[in-house]
Amino acid sequence: MNWYKKGLCFSCTECGKCCSGPPGYIWVDNQEMLAIADHLNLPLSTFALKYTKKVKDQYSLIERKALNGIDNDCIFLKEGKCSIYEVRPKQCRTYPFWPENVKTKEAWAQTAQECEGINDEAEVVTSDKINEILHS
Ligand code: SF4
Ligand code: SF4
Repeated sequence: MNWYKKGLCFSCTECGKCCSGPPGYIWVDNQEMLAIADHLNLPLSTFALKYTKKVKDQYSLIERKALNGIDNDCIFLKEGKCSIYEVRPKQCRTYPFWPENVKTKEAWAQTAQECEGINDEAEVVTSDKINEILHS
C-alpha cells in the first residue's frame, strides 16, 4: 500500500506558476514535437529551430525571461496561460503527479509549496488515477 491510498487533493487553478521559475527543462519527445508543430501549423524543422533546444540527446522547449526580469517562462506561457494547452507535453500534463513528488508525504508537502492547486479544498484524485498518471 502506498501512503496516498486515500488519494491526494489537487485541482489546477491554472495559475501558471509551474510554467515559470528558475531555469529548467520542458522535455518534449518526437511525437510531442510533431503534435505541437502541427498545432502551430509549422514544419517540424521550423518548430524545432524556433522553440526547442537540444540537451544531449533530448529536446526541451525553450524559455524566455519573465516580465519580472527574474523568472524564466516557458516560451508558450502567454498572459499566464499555456498557449498550447491541448498539445502540451506529458511533463506538463502529469504535473504535479511526478514520481519524485508523490514518493513521500514530505515530498508532496514540498510540492504543495510550489503548486497552489494542492490544498485541502481541492478535489480528491484517487490513488488509482495517480498510479495511472505515473505509468502513462
Ligand atoms: S502550479 Fe499547480 S495550480 Fe498552478 S498551473 Fe501549475 S499545476 Fe496548476
Ligand atoms: S508547454 Fe504549456 S503547460 Fe508546459 S510549461 Fe509551457 S506553458 Fe506551461
